[in-house]
Amino acid sequence: MNLHDAETLSAELRGRGFSLADGPEDADVVVVFTCSVREKPEEKVFSRLGRLARIKKKKPGMIVAVAGCMAERLGPAVFDRAPCVDAVAGPGSLDRLCDFIENPVAGGRAVFTGFVGAAAVSPVARRASGDGSHSAFVSAMTGCGKFCSYCIVPYVRGPERSRPAREVAAQAHARAGGGAREVTLLGQSISAYGRDIGGNLRDLLRAVCMVPGLDRVRFLTSHPADFDPGILPLFGEFGNLCPHLQMPAQSGSDGVLRRMNRGYTASGYRKTVERARDEVPGMEITSDFIVGFPGETDADFRMTLDLIEWAGFRNVFAFKYVPRPGTAAAALVDDVPPEVKQERLAELLAVARGTGRRRNSEAVGKTFRVMVEGPDSRREASVTGRTMGNHIVAFGGGFRPGETVEVRIESASDLTLFGEAV
Ligand code: SF4
Repeated sequence: MNLHDAETLSAELRGRGFSLADGPEDADVVVVFTCSVREKPEEKVFSRLGRLARIKKKKPGMIVAVAGCMAERLGPAVFDRAPCVDAVAGPGSLDRLCDFIENPVAGGRAVFTGFVGAAAVSPVARRASGDGSHSAFVSAMTGCGKFCSYCIVPYVRGPERSRPAREVAAQAHARAGGGAREVTLLGQSISAYGRDIGGNLRDLLRAVCMVPGLDRVRFLTSHPADFDPGILPLFGEFGNLCPHLQMPAQSGSDGVLRRMNRGYTASGYRKTVERARDEVPGMEITSDFIVGFPGETDADFRMTLDLIEWAGFRNVFAFKYVPRPGTAAAALVDDVPPEVKQERLAELLAVARGTGRRRNSEAVGKTFRVMVEGPDSRREASVTGRTMGNHIVAFGGGFRPGETVEVRIESASDLTLFGEAV
């Protein structure tokens, strides 16, 4: 979402006559996009702002803005800790931030927050034509109404607001016309797409998959409680719909899931995984987990490990629970000691590395269609790309981003496949 918002803002400002600087030292305007989901990224933002303050001392006319969820959450309080900041803008206020950057109030500061009555996407996001890259993000909806007890998103991005499917498809069409071969549809909980406007994800995926020139269509993020099995036949119907679900489980314990207000059980999650894999050959499922949620016992945690082993995820993202002010879970006693959270996280990641290695080793000897992303930063004369199932593949050759290449896999690590073009 932040990457998408940053691309959108940059496209809008380029349209208004600005151009991209090489770095903050050369910039007249710096916008820091922020995340509020965890505490650590917020702290990183303030240390980044400290560095920007030193640059601004030498260039007093420089505009520094803070955008995104942290801006929405803290509002003018950002100025107290970072006096170098000129403007603060939440995710629903990119338009107003662009206007401010174009016509700053001399010496004045601005706060743009609030999403009440805001459209599903801002006019600047609707206009965003992209930068000619082979891969484009298109926002299908914004906000979230799930109120998972640990999560700040519904408070900083507002309720679910879907864009009409024809509007999303039109933007995907425009991005394909501008050179995109791959589109990723974004929604905090995209399984709920369309409920507020009488639509559904099936029709949206159909409309976007039919856009000429798109070799790949992806979508993020699937919520297990809303998952509609009706989308599964579409993977057979459309060869460009990538068989990959990013579907966070968060825990394998029903008690923890209940306290998290996730709205499904561990066995319900397993059934969804089973069905998706049964109906869609090559379906890849990746997941997110939180360890050390209030009240998580060792037995709860073992159930999470068991789920990961059972599902054999190729990749998981996992975090230690940290209470976020203003969320329902912040009222629960944070009773899992930090060292236990750390041990559990390490154990979970070790188990996930094992399942990732196992899954990746099954790919050795097989051939995949890989879309090239760019040069491999670790190996000379090599590129990296992704399979339809979102495996990362490194292979030799001077291919360009967006090219699709048949690659035979020769070896695998926990996270990457290595092969040769055939
Ligand atoms: S589904 Fe839950 S975790 Fe995901 S954004 Fe919504 S409230 Fe947050």
